[in-house]
Amino acid sequence: MSTTPMTPSQLLANLTEWGVKFEEYRSWRTHNRDSATGKSFGPVSGFMVHHTGSDASDQRALLYNGVAGLPGPLCHFGLAQDGTVHLIGWGRTNHAGLGDPDVLRAVVNESYDQYPPVDNQSTVDGNDCFYGVEIWYSGGHKMTDAQYATLRRLAAAVCDYHGWSAKSVIGHGEWGSPGKWDPGMSAGRMMDMAAVRADVQSTLDSKVATPSKPTTPTKPAPKPTTPAKPVVDLSKVESAARTNPPMAGRTVTYSGVKTLKAALIREGLLASSDTDGHYGQRVVKAYAAWQRKCGYSGAAADGVPGWTSLRKLAAKRGFTVVR
Ligand SMILES: [Zn+2]
Repeated sequence: MSTTPMTPSQLLANLTEWGVKFEEYRSWRTHNRDSATGKSFGPVSGFMVHHTGSDASDQRALLYNGVAGLPGPLCHFGLAQDGTVHLIGWGRTNHAGLGDPDVLRAVVNESYDQYPPVDNQSTVDGNDCFYGVEIWYSGGHKMTDAQYATLRRLAAAVCDYHGWSAKSVIGHGEWGSPGKWDPGMSAGRMMDMAAVRADVQSTLDSKVATPSKPTTPTKPAPKPTTPAKPVVDLSKVESAARTNPPMAGRTVTYSGVKTLKAALIREGLLASSDTDGHYGQRVVKAYAAWQRKCGYSGAAADGVPGWTSLRKLAAKRGFTVVR
């Protein structure tokens, strides 16, 4: 069992492994409350479920920026009505507030039966030890089926990474913050979290029950009839984008940069003569222009490839992205 928080890359790999559909929002990887509070995120103890109290269809900016008196990020995960997880922040986020030390102890030890102890104290900070998902709905009615299906996978993914059971998953209404009843199922009424935990546990168990690789030999795969697409490793181009520009000459640290540059040339964003594997200043500018085409702005369009923008370029220009 590990209590060290996942890094952003570990999280992305984990979500991919568990088939959680996700989108990255702005600078979520570095957006947190750590430096503002002088406290860091972790060791981590569990996963907390919330409703936002609103049925609005796009709540990313609100969760990212926060509200008056409660600065963002307000969670790690925003869960939209269509079942997509939007990555909002990473590190300490303002979602849990103060809660009950008896509940925390029961979650850490997973030492309770159906429900954690009564949450009648508000003395320990949950923001430094709970991952938090804000589900986009009012709580006055049920969440969508797509949201619930993703909640099960997302909670299972986090528990799987840390070696937790579903007893590490609690609702905000079980935590000890006065007046909270999320995640709701009707006005003022929290979902039955024991039933939610049972569903998360069965999702977790389904992974164990289904081996991911066949153990008996199967028929050899048919020969591909089309040539394989070039592969670009996100972490390697990202590293090239950060280290190459100040290097003298035309230093090449990763050959996949050539594939990326060829795509930028075909997009009309980079001079057609610039075909080597050096990720220089002109490539930073060209990639930033591509990020703006994808709808990013400001610090999110910094010329360093990210998962979403690179996959869009790959889909359009015929290569494959791995990380
Ligand atoms: Zn809440």
